[in-house]
Amino acid sequence: TKVVDRIPGDRPVFSVEFMPPRDDADELRLWNSIRSLEGLDPAFVSVTYGAGGSGRDRTIRTTGRVVTETTLVSMAHLTAVDHSVAELRNVIGWYASLGIRNVLALRGDPPGDPNGEWVRHPEGLNYAEELVRLVRSLGDFCVGVSAFPYGHPRSADLDTDTRYLVSKLRAGADFAIAQLFFEAEDFLRLRDRVAAAGCETVLLPGVMPLTTPRILSKTVELSGEEVPAALVARMDRFTGDPKAFREEGMNVTTELCERLLAEGVPSLHFYTFNRAKATKEIVVDRLGLVPGRKAQPVA
Ligand code: FAD
Repeated sequence: TKVVDRIPGDRPVFSVEFMPPRDDADELRLWNSIRSLEGLDPAFVSVTYGAGGSGRDRTIRTTGRVVTETTLVSMAHLTAVDHSVAELRNVIGWYASLGIRNVLALRGDPPGDPNGEWVRHPEGLNYAEELVRLVRSLGDFCVGVSAFPYGHPRSADLDTDTRYLVSKLRAGADFAIAQLFFEAEDFLRLRDRVAAAGCETVLLPGVMPLTTPRILSKTVELSGEEVPAALVARMDRFTGDPKAFREEGMNVTTELCERLLAEGVPSLHFYTFNRAKATKEIVVDRLGLVPGRKAQPVA
């Protein structure tokens, strides 16, 4: 099953992202999360691609297990980091042989320092766009790419960023998933820029439930944007009280999701860090996105 076929458009759905487990305890946590989400019928689950070696094997293994051992639709991430084209073909072949039909094609960051200089593998690829073409050329895959609401950190300006994004989408991407952002408008402006360029590819917002102050720092790190003053003011008074911080953070996330859904976003993509509890709370109890599961009124 392809990811695009899991996003019906007439009712909002959600998807979840996991990371390859680092150790046995993480593996247990991951599989508990996967099992607990299975009954909620997410549109798809994706597994990120590690920066190197064993992490990559664990991505392939985990994504394969999702296909063979669960009822979930699986999407594997793939990056061009330190890979020759021959190796990339090999990994894509592995994915295909495991029955994986969905690939998120990424350039990736330089290993070690993500802000360091990007060095292409001598026999590899330079941009995600080339990987989109490669995956497409190797089979009947549904291909996703990444998008950046504030522009990719390496982009000179938003216009250039939009131009390259649209070019990547037109190279054969079926959808894009956005990096973390703080306010719904930030995502909606990205969507407007892409639409204004005449591109109709579906864009999915990436959401991470705001359960701890660390999630805020992570969002700053990944988005390249500072926390908006209004959000700082809203959350600051709870920094010494983890329970109250979580409650208010979940309210913030719920409001963000509600605004995105009101703007016609067909699906929400949740970054989980291999923990499902907060995502379940948002999609079931707060947004009521899962048919047959009763949404609890939010206090
Ligand atoms: P690209 O689209 O190739 O863009 C990279 C830069 O080059 C941008 O600045 C772009 O504007 C510019 N550019 C693009 N085309 C051209 C061109 N033709 N000429 C000149 N400049 C150009 N990383 C991982 O390691 N593993 C993962 O699993 C992973 N999953 C992710 C999932 C999502 C949803 C997101 C948003 C990010 C993910 N990342 C992952 C991080 C991602 O790999 C990095 O953010 C990386 O820096 C950008 O990858 P990209 O595919 O967007 O690159």
